[in-house]
Amino acid sequence: MEFKPDFQPLSGREFPRFSAIKTFFRLPVVEIKEKFDVALFGIPYDGGVSYRPGARFAPTEVRNASSLGRGFHWNRELNIFEQLKIADVGDCPTVPIDQNQTYEKIEKFVGSILKTNKKFVAVGGDHSTTLPVLRALKKHYKTPLAFVHFDAHLDTYPAAWGCEYHHGAFARHAVEEGLVDPKKMLQIGIRGPLASKEDLAFVKKHKVQVKTVDDVRAGSLDQFLKTLPTFDNTPTYISFDVDCLDPAFAPGTGTPVVGGLTSYETQRILRALKIPNLVGGDVVEICPPADHADITSLVGVDVMFEMLCLMANAAQKKRAKKA
Ligand code: MN
Ligand code: MN
Repeated sequence: MEFKPDFQPLSGREFPRFSAIKTFFRLPVVEIKEKFDVALFGIPYDGGVSYRPGARFAPTEVRNASSLGRGFHWNRELNIFEQLKIADVGDCPTVPIDQNQTYEKIEKFVGSILKTNKKFVAVGGDHSTTLPVLRALKKHYKTPLAFVHFDAHLDTYPAAWGCEYHHGAFARHAVEEGLVDPKKMLQIGIRGPLASKEDLAFVKKHKVQVKTVDDVRAGSLDQFLKTLPTFDNTPTYISFDVDCLDPAFAPGTGTPVVGGLTSYETQRILRALKIPNLVGGDVVEICPPADHADITSLVGVDVMFEMLCLMANAAQKKRAKKA
């Protein structure tokens, strides 16, 4: 008999949320070639970290924590599972001791999803995994993407130990390779300390919009939200490095920086972003071995939810326009 997925999460009434096999949002595991809208997958690779490893375990832990995920967004008044067919397509294959092979596999995997005209939300992995994802997107859409980058770090740093592709350099490569349009690039949550003033040279040269934690906190949160740019129909990507959050709100991460955002602030920012064409997103740098009480994995689930809501919003509007 053929397996016919219904793209609905397993009911918590039939199977309590602590039970059953763990998938993202308790959704069915489905092959990429099936007909649906948004693929969820893990990228379990942390060979690009410069400090504390462990992000390779994030997809498993976020799946576990996502048992508590639900579909209806109170503020947006929509249910993601009514607007979109979403499925867990498993993990992207990786090679823990070879970054070149891992990059090739990530680009191929993401390319296979894009070929079937799907959107996606991925769970890393360290931030070096975002670069091959952006390469696949650029190849598919044939245009530099608009890009929202949540992070404590600029990730525009030079090579380390003679290696170009560490987790603190992906944003520089993304600009240099023309994968993202720096004029449509926004960094949020950035803060020091930096190695030196020179660290800022790259974003200044390319006129990247940088919103520091000081910018977020200068006035009221509502005032800050009004300063966010409006995005046009350019294919847009969001990469959410959990270390944009204060370590109190995301202790389970590889390179924590104090003085960060609260999880509520990032929720409000994600809700305020006007992105009509979000084609993909990722949550990276969750490091479960350093986490406590799933605090960081739960944030990861919520960020996935907000990204899915942005996609659901767009699908809803498209449908309303057709009707
Ligand atoms: Mn980062
Ligand atoms: Mn970071």
